[in-house]
Amino acid sequence: MFRDVYENDSLTGLLSYSSFQKAVSSMAEQDPKGMENGRYAMLCFNILRFKVINDLFGSDGGDQLLIFVANQIRKIGDEKALASRTHSDHFCLFLPIDGVNLAAKMESFSNTVENCASDFEVICHTGVYVTNRNDIRPDGMIARALLACSFVKEQVDKRYMFYNTSMRTQLLLEQEIINNMGKALEEEHFKVYYQSQYNHITGQLVGAEALVRWLHPTRGLISPAVFIPVLEKNNFIVKLDLFVFEKTCALIRRMLDEGIEPIPLSVNVSRLDILYPDMPDQMEAIRQKYNVPVEWLRVEITESAIIDGIEKLTQFIEKMHKLGFNIEMDDFGSGYSSLNMLKNLDLDTLKLDMRLLSDEGSSKNNGAVILTGLVRMAKWLGLPIIGEGVEHKEQADFLASIGCSYVQGFLYSRPVPEEDFYELVKNQKKGEIKPPMQLIENMNSAKFWNPMSIETLIFNNYVGGAAVMEYRNKRVDLVRVNKKFIRELGENLTEEDVLKWQPFDYMDEKNKQIMLAAAEKAIATDSEQECETWSLTPKNHDPICMRVAMRMIANSTDNVMFYILIRNITNERKTQNDILHHEKVFRAASEQVNIYYWEYDVKTKDMIPCFRCMRDLGLPALMHNYPESLFEANVVPPEAAEKYRVLMNSIDAGLASAEVVVPLTLDRIPFRIRYTTEFDDQGNPVKAYGSAVPVN
Ligand code: C2E
Ligand code: CA
Ligand code: CA
Repeated sequence: MFRDVYENDSLTGLLSYSSFQKAVSSMAEQDPKGMENGRYAMLCFNILRFKVINDLFGSDGGDQLLIFVANQIRKIGDEKALASRTHSDHFCLFLPIDGVNLAAKMESFSNTVENCASDFEVICHTGVYVTNRNDIRPDGMIARALLACSFVKEQVDKRYMFYNTSMRTQLLLEQEIINNMGKALEEEHFKVYYQSQYNHITGQLVGAEALVRWLHPTRGLISPAVFIPVLEKNNFIVKLDLFVFEKTCALIRRMLDEGIEPIPLSVNVSRLDILYPDMPDQMEAIRQKYNVPVEWLRVEITESAIIDGIEKLTQFIEKMHKLGFNIEMDDFGSGYSSLNMLKNLDLDTLKLDMRLLSDEGSSKNNGAVILTGLVRMAKWLGLPIIGEGVEHKEQADFLASIGCSYVQGFLYSRPVPEEDFYELVKNQKKGEIKPPMQLIENMNSAKFWNPMSIETLIFNNYVGGAAVMEYRNKRVDLVRVNKKFIRELGENLTEEDVLKWQPFDYMDEKNKQIMLAAAEKAIATDSEQECETWSLTPKNHDPICMRVAMRMIANSTDNVMFYILIRNITNERKTQNDILHHEKVFRAASEQVNIYYWEYDVKTKDMIPCFRCMRDLGLPALMHNYPESLFEANVVPPEAAEKYRVLMNSIDAGLASAEVVVPLTLDRIPFRIRYTTEFDDQGNPVKAYGSAVPVN
């Protein structure tokens, strides 16, 4: 009944702000119990990007929207509800909520508003304060509702939030941080702590991360997780990061001056630093001031920086690289960016946070799968990975099992103050962070995986069968094959068949050993190696024979990549087997004529006689120390021995062929002995084939 004396907003018909406050006061005064017991709520609404809407649709369009939203707000409550447009695109609603499902009403309100324009998404944020006392004035309620509203922004998927007291505490804290940060920096209340990074396979110290803390004179130690987000809202973070960088440079300078071998130190660079074009130059100036070789400094950027645009990030990385800094990607795989985007960034190291993966919701197993995938990808990019946030031994074991050797976490060391860290560095054995895969020659793996790169075109168009094979733990896996490779294996195979094919599962032990020996030799000598193996293929029952040439293209401590070329030589080998068969026939034929023959090994002085030699002369299947053993067996009479010895010496010395007549057998029958020598590539005699025919 009072309402008529109140003023209204001419556009929407809602109450003016001052009228609204009066009306709220009088409603609250009439029901102090209800106010205390949460039977009323104050809601504040804010249309996002209203300016843009005005620009796009004109002020008439804007007005229409305001009227529409005002009507929707009216619908949230019944006739008792009080609604106001406080100014421009801001609204308030005060209403009794006894028996009202406010959350459901808010959902429906947000949906209706969001879908009110076909060509533009209208978003309205709402903060809700449910009353909990009777002595609060309307502007106190509005302030709380507005605070809740400001928290909606930090939530991606929320359109409204209910006020709670921690929001107020947080606001106060934020305000305090802002009020004190300048002084804290001046008076050096910010302290830099260092957390060591280790190679957990060798136990060596490989680096450390600089982490800032706020040693507040009254509040004690404040965690960066609390104040960094506040400082990121106002550019102060840039100053702080430069301060941390300066402290880090000073520490390395001190180590160098005091004759202690330093380790590389990483500093964190905030998203805002990246947007600040002067950052690289300012860092470089500090580095020069302390005359610290750039190899001891690294910069961590966070994946979330991609949100501000990949160009900005790329430019920053480029500038820092020009200055010689190593770039580490923090929180790699946290999901801000697609792996494809990361692939295009020129990074030096990846940091993988174990805590990201132990979150509830992603099961342990799933996390392991993701981790393994990330590590595999990092290896292909040739980048080392540092596993971060390692708290438990199981996490460390798991990292080791997937080939990640570098770790940082409470399990090894907490972040410690500078002095403690200094002592730690003094007494530790140190190592380096190395890429997991060292690419050999000029092979660029990133290009290799790009379907449009020259490397790929060559690979795909190579006339022979080519593949990339991964070799790990005495197992081989094909990771990439070209078309010809598939055809070499068999007519009816698909690429999928071949990639799933585990060659070793289709080979017998002997062939497996042949392949392994070639692989090991290729690694040991870093040269191309060839081997021939028989194996089955997924869909064929006949074994095939492959001539495989392999060359290492990348390697790590536990993993080697080979580029392999294959030729299916099954048919050639079958023909050769036919030849062998013919040879057998020939040997049988030699039985019928009077020929003895044998093989002599120049190096070992072993002699392998033919079957007839064994049968007729009683020789063993293998004679060592030839020809002396022959003389001992009395097959050659002592008076002819010297002549025979001279003959053998000339064979050893490299005579290509020779002939003598000596009496042989116990009957001393004269035989014409002929030798033909076989040489290796360098022209050294390897074997000699001897034959003996009776002289008539
Ligand atoms: P971050 O860069 O991911 O740093 C690693 C955080 O993990 C540190 O937290 C470290 O203390 C913590 N941590 C290390 N190992 C473990 C572990 O095993 N278990 C657990 N639960 N935590 C571990 P901190 O020092 O509180 O820093 C939090 C974040 O604040 C950092 O996360 C970084 O984003 C930011 N930050 C810290 N110092 C700076 C700085 O100087 N500049 C900027 N821009 N940001 C910083
Ligand atoms: Ca970090
Ligand atoms: Ca991190």
